[in-house]
Amino acid sequence: MSEQEPASRIRVLDPATINQIAAGEVIERPASVVKELVENAIDAGAGSVTIELTSIRDSIATIRVTDDGCGMSDADARLAFVPHATSKISTISDLHRIHTLGFRGEALATIAAVSRVTLVTKSVGSGLVAGTRIVVEGGRVRETSGTGCPDGTSILVEDLFFNTPARKKFQKSKNTELAHIHDICEGICLSHPEIAFRLVHNGSEHLITDSTGRPLDAIARLYGSTVAAELVPVELILPFIEVRGFVSRPSLSRKDRARMLVSVNQRYITSAGINDAIKAGYGTLLPKDRFPVAFISLIIDTGLVDVNVHPTKKQIRLSQEKEIFEAVRDAVREALFSHDLIPSIEVPGPVERLATDPPHAAPSGYPVSDNRQPGMVAESTHAGTITTDQRLRQTELPLTPRPTAVISSLLPRMEVIGEFGGIYILARTPDGELLIIDQHAAHERILYEQVSGPSGAVRPSQELISPVVLHRTPKEAAIIRDLLPALAKEGFVLEEFGGDSFLVRAVPVILGRVEESPVIDEIISDLVSEEASQAVSNRERIVRIVACRGAIKAGTVCSREQCQRIVDQLRMTQNPFTCPHGRPTLIRFTRHELDARFLRV
Ligand code: ADP
Ligand code: MG
Repeated sequence: MSEQEPASRIRVLDPATINQIAAGEVIERPASVVKELVENAIDAGAGSVTIELTSIRDSIATIRVTDDGCGMSDADARLAFVPHATSKISTISDLHRIHTLGFRGEALATIAAVSRVTLVTKSVGSGLVAGTRIVVEGGRVRETSGTGCPDGTSILVEDLFFNTPARKKFQKSKNTELAHIHDICEGICLSHPEIAFRLVHNGSEHLITDSTGRPLDAIARLYGSTVAAELVPVELILPFIEVRGFVSRPSLSRKDRARMLVSVNQRYITSAGINDAIKAGYGTLLPKDRFPVAFISLIIDTGLVDVNVHPTKKQIRLSQEKEIFEAVRDAVREALFSHDLIPSIEVPGPVERLATDPPHAAPSGYPVSDNRQPGMVAESTHAGTITTDQRLRQTELPLTPRPTAVISSLLPRMEVIGEFGGIYILARTPDGELLIIDQHAAHERILYEQVSGPSGAVRPSQELISPVVLHRTPKEAAIIRDLLPALAKEGFVLEEFGGDSFLVRAVPVILGRVEESPVIDEIISDLVSEEASQAVSNRERIVRIVACRGAIKAGTVCSREQCQRIVDQLRMTQNPFTCPHGRPTLIRFTRHELDARFLRV
């Protein structure tokens, strides 16, 4: 080896380089800059915050956040860019009672390390005309001067990632970055209705809220008044947690969780656990693949929340997670059951009048197995009436009484006017409203509540006159074998019948006199074909399938008396608004809505 080895390969990095590396953690993209700057403005007690973006070609060029908060003195402004300079904590013990959004003292230093930042600030009540202007580029202070400016702070960020080309390359299209910024701003606006926000891009306003202090106003501003009108308020106060916010009636749901916004101690966070708890509050009000719109704000003892687990604080760690999740679930459930959940038909405005979309179509993705054709008219046959009667009688088991607290609030008395197409029951309420009830969905709900009583009890079963033989593939047979104990509890008596065959000797009483082997075959097929999932227990799956198969089919024409029995029974259920899959059982037209449709108002 002729070349001389360098004395040392290890170098201590200079602070500017350290900050560039750290920047990667906190400042991933333009949206992270917006988040940090807006959070600082909130911490500074701002009453209004303006976020101005410009873009050229396909990327975000500049970000400016202006607030009317407390501002900074000249000395503080100089310190603000020093790593780990913060006015918010001084010792580790402060961390446990921190109520501000920032506290690491990293954001400004890291943003300035990877861009050119111009800070203009003046502390409130200083009485001075001039504030401070500081320009920092790539972590180095380029300019410090006095400047005339209003109280508060304005921070302009340009040339983001100019000195970290790798990160710059990772930036997505302008629209993607704008969408991220939008998401961040939404969460912040919702958790701070007391602050007026304005998000402007290339001079045009994207998002704007007033500082009314009422969360519902911010929601209506961001998502429209139609969404706001479908929400019911949530409020549960326990010693260790306060749950507040709004959740949608089941008639407003989505395929994804994108409108489930949760803040903890006014910080917008992502938590699969809390989302699940919100969904759990709906029970069977929503299908398993539909998600509510929910704006939930949790105030939790700061001792139970560790926000310091994720650099951007988007994820948090909770102590007593189970109790917190239960509180959220109970709060949502209570909110839903103490409000009128019957979806109303929206009165169309003059422009949208006669819109063709059914306002409450079955959620897409839900397999509608019945052959439902609105307007279809089926002739009632004598034989049909008798079977329906038998079925209604067999299934008219007493329902477990509901807690009295909710007994009066769920459904009004309903007087049947008639039926339509063998699918819908028309009824009137004492208040003169018209209700349209989905006969199958309603009966399914009734049966579901009858069969899903206490899980320990064994369901009554009825022996089949001639047992039915099921032949299955080895894989299906294995699934059935696993399900045998659960099936037995629900009233199915199945025996091994050699190879991969089974003999069905008895079925739950609730299924009525099913003698046709195809029906039994179908029930078992439903059970083996449906993906077993963590969320729904075997028992729950069996109960839902039994309720669905046992219920009167759409297309079965019922007499008025039969219809009346169905609606009376529906009133007795704990959750009369949806079938076990979450589809609505009934919708309502008020007189006002009908009058509006006929242009009488
Ligand atoms: P942190 O927010 O974690 O304290 P930052 O780097 O975000 O750290 O900010 C450093 C300090 O600069 C803050 O603690 C605060 O004192 C001051 N500061 C930053 N932004 C503002 C602002 N918009 N108004 C007033 N003070 C600010
Ligand atoms: Mg900060």
